This record gives sequence, C-alpha cells and structure tokens, in this order.
Amino acid sequence: MTSSIGRDSPIGSSSPIGRNSPIGRVVVLLGAPGAGKGTQAQILSKRLGLAHVATGDLFRAAVRDETPLGTVAKAYMDRGELVPDTVTIKMLLERLSKPDAAAGILLDGFPRNTAQADALDKALAEAGGSVDIAPYIEVPESDLVARLSGRWICRAEGHPYHEQANPPLVAGVCDIDGSELYQRTDDQPATVQARLRQQLGALAEVVAYYRDRGLLKPVDGRRGIDGVSEDLFASIAAATGTQG
Ligand code: ADP
Ligand code: ADP
Repeated sequence: MTSSIGRDSPIGSSSPIGRNSPIGRVVVLLGAPGAGKGTQAQILSKRLGLAHVATGDLFRAAVRDETPLGTVAKAYMDRGELVPDTVTIKMLLERLSKPDAAAGILLDGFPRNTAQADALDKALAEAGGSVDIAPYIEVPESDLVARLSGRWICRAEGHPYHEQANPPLVAGVCDIDGSELYQRTDDQPATVQARLRQQLGALAEVVAYYRDRGLLKPVDGRRGIDGVSEDLFASIAAATGTQG
C-alpha cells in the first residue's frame, strides 16, 4: 500500500486516501438541498470530534479563489447541476488525505449519486475503513424552498443562518467568526427549483444505496435545529459507540 497520495493519483489507485492506518469513524449525512446538513454537521462535528467535510464548501472556496477547479465547478453550480464525478471524487479524496480526517469524518453533501457512493466505499475499504452510518434528514419538498430562499451564509466559513428560523445575533454578521453574511447565488428562486428538480432523483438513489446496506437512519428534519441535533447525535453515537 502506498503511504501518500500524489495530486495526480488516479481515482481507484491503491490507498487513494493515502494512509496506512485505518480511517476513524465515517458518518455520511444525507438530505435534500436545504434539509439542514450544513447546520447539523457544524454542531455534530464539534460534539463528535469529527472533521466536517462539505463538498459544497470546497467548491465555493475554489470558486472564490478562482482556481481551475473553481472555474469548472462554477458553471455547474450556477445551473443547479451536480459537478462531474471525476472532478468531485478527486477533490474529496484529496481532502480525506489531510491529517485531520484520520480521527474520523462527517461528510456533508457527498456522496450525491451512487457512483460517488461506490467510489467512497472503495477508497475507504482500501484505507481499511467503511461507512458507519448514513443519517438521512427528511424534510418535505414544500419546506425546502422556504429554507433555501431564507438562507444566509458567512463569507469566511459558510456557517448557515436563516432569516426566520435561525437569525444571527447581529443582522448581516456571523455569530461565530464575525464575517459578513451573504445569500448564495444558487439560492435564488430559479436555481433552487432547478437544484431540486435535478438532484432529488439522485438523492433517492443514494438513500436506497445505504438502506440496502443497512446503514440508513432516517431522522425527522421538520423539528427545530436542537431537536434534530439530539436525534442525529443519538443515532450516530449508537452506531459508532460514542459516549455522550
Ligand atoms: P443544507 O446544508 O442541507 O443545504 P442548511 O444547513 O444550509 O442545509 O440549512 C438550510 C437553511 O435552513 C438554512 O437557512 C438553515 O438556517 C435553515 N435550517 C436548518 N435546519 C433547520 C431546522 N431544523 N428548522 C428550520 N430551519 C432550518
Ligand atoms: P446544498 O446542500 O444547499 O444543495 P451544497 O453546498 O452541498 O448545497 O452544494 C452546492 C453545489 O455544489 C451543488 O448544487 C452542486 O452543484 C455542487 N456540489 C456539492 N457537492 C457535490 C457533489 N458531491 N457532487 C457534485 N456536485 C456537488
């Protein structure tokens, strides 16, 4: 097994995550756009001591920094479409090779289709790990539009807020890092509709993928943020043997 990953390592090469020791706990947080994955991942990653890995945040950072990856991703994101798998999987595996992922990861926004789920399983298996649980935050489609169109996120870290459900203490300012809040361009009504239309089918396939493997844990996402957190924490703690 190789012990490092080159930036150009082909996907599926031996040990693509690039570690000799097995990766720790792996939690795959599932939900439609706007279901509350980012909100919950931020809370739970701290509580569980897991690295929060959000592919949407990685793409937005690449767009902000005007990297070649950002240029490719932006065109898809602006249309509400998924970024192609080759690009996305390579980016994810590079992120998982970072030291902070060794203790365990909380994935937010990946996998988004069954090809990505297969690639993740394969990479984890080659690094001696596997997915422990896939909690699924269930929110009716009718609520998603209101959640997305009222969302504001911070420039520095993408911490999410909502005009009504989760407002910041000071309007326009992130409670956590003090950076400016803004509305994502893909949260405009036309793109929201496109994202839901294009991504909900793939989400259903990913949900079935984890259900077939006995890893899916549906959680009622219609409750308040704290209630959803408690349900998620209980499920993840039970699946990973975490004390809490
Ligand atoms: P996702 O990462 O799944 O797209 P977010 O965590 O960004 O979702 O949440 C989408 C929007 O919904 C944000 O504005 C967030 O503040 C709000 N939100 C998150 N959880 C809840 C909840 N349980 N009830 C009401 N609003 C919520
Ligand atoms: P949300 O949870 O609100 O849908 P994300 O921040 O997870 O938003 O993703 C924003 C956009 O980034 C997606 O609409 C898509 O274009 C792209 N993206 C994020 N994760 C993936 C992924 N795993 N595969 C392909 N595209 C992705």
